[in-house]
Order: sequence, then C-alpha cells, then structure tokens
Amino acid sequence: MVMSTKSKPVIAIDVDDVLADSAQGFVEFSNQRWGTHLTVEDYDERWSKMWGVDIEEERRRAHVIYNAKVVKGFKHFEEAIPVLTRLKSHYKLVITTSRSKFVEKETLEWLNTHYAGIFEAIYLSGFYDELKEHSHKQTKAELCQKIGANYLIDDHPKHCFAASEVGVKCLLFGDYSWNRNTSIANNMKKVLNWKEVEKFFDEERKKLQKQGK
Ligand SMILES: [Mg+2]
Repeated sequence: MVMSTKSKPVIAIDVDDVLADSAQGFVEFSNQRWGTHLTVEDYDERWSKMWGVDIEEERRRAHVIYNAKVVKGFKHFEEAIPVLTRLKSHYKLVITTSRSKFVEKETLEWLNTHYAGIFEAIYLSGFYDELKEHSHKQTKAELCQKIGANYLIDDHPKHCFAASEVGVKCLLFGDYSWNRNTSIANNMKKVLNWKEVEKFFDEERKKLQKQGK
C-alpha cells in the first residue's frame, strides 16, 4: 500500500448524544433524583425550561449533577466503534465538546474507557464555563476553525449551522426532538446513525477521488 504524504482531513466529533447516550442518562438521573417523569423526547439543553424551574434551582441541580459525576455512567454507542476505527485510517479524528471544565477529567476517562485509541486530540470549547482572564469562551464553530476541522459531527443544529457558515461540512447527527424537524443548510447533511456517517464518508471519498483530490 502506498502511504499518502498528504495530511488527513480532520473530523471533529461531539460527545453528548453522538458518542454518548447522554440525554438518556440525564433524564434517568433526573427522574431518580427529583422524581421527574422525563424521557429523551423531553430533553432540552435549557434545563430550567425542561424542568419548569427558575435559574436558581437549575444552578442548584446542575451542581448536584456535576458533583454526582453523572457523565461517568453514560452509555456509549457500541455501533460507533467499528465505524470510527475504519474512518481513522483516512481521517484525523478529534473531539470537540461544549462540556464544562468541571467534568473534563471524567470526560477524558470516559473516552479512554469506551473509545480508547481513536481520537488524536480532545478539545473542550469551555462554552458554559465562567469567563476568566486569559481564558476564552469559544463557540464550536470558532473551535472548528482554530483546529482546522474539515467536518463536524454534532447533534445540535445551532453548532452545525454556525460551523457550516465558516466552511465546515456538518453532519447533523441522530433522530432527536431537538434536531428532527430542523432545516438543513448548504454544507450540512442529516445522518440518523453511525452507519449513515460511514456511508457519507465513503461517498465523500469517492467524490473527491473523481475530482482528483
Ligand atoms: Mg451533543
């Protein structure tokens, strides 16, 4: 086999609800801890709205969630592993997540447990972290630009829209209440599962080969 000297295109991959069954884990914890009756269909990243509580109560619960290290127990998507393993020979795979610094250690450990040896770098955007001196809150689109990502796989329309505007090809991942009926911009494709992700990249490589790239 002839090894290419060209550097591999970069795929930035989100964690929550793309690699981890996060909304499911979240609502299970909420139901147990606060007696809610939420399902994944009810999940909303605006937690106060989802719970019907004020911001104070949301903050209190957020601390409970961070302290309980809930993210450690999230299930991973088994079907992602063979796809990522195959993609790895053609692409540089990196993590881009909006997760808070509060759970950085748990996030790294979790990735190492479930997706060992797959990702070349892990970037936290710090999107929800307090702004400190010398630190910078980045949007995922900014982060994608900074790290030179060619592709983004993310379940959140807002991240896909923003990243597609700066020239990143975006795969809007999964079949969730928050991304089901959304429109699709140029540079964006809806993929329901990891099989469709693989199909997209197979076709993408064929297309580029035809164009002689
Ligand atoms: Mg996500």
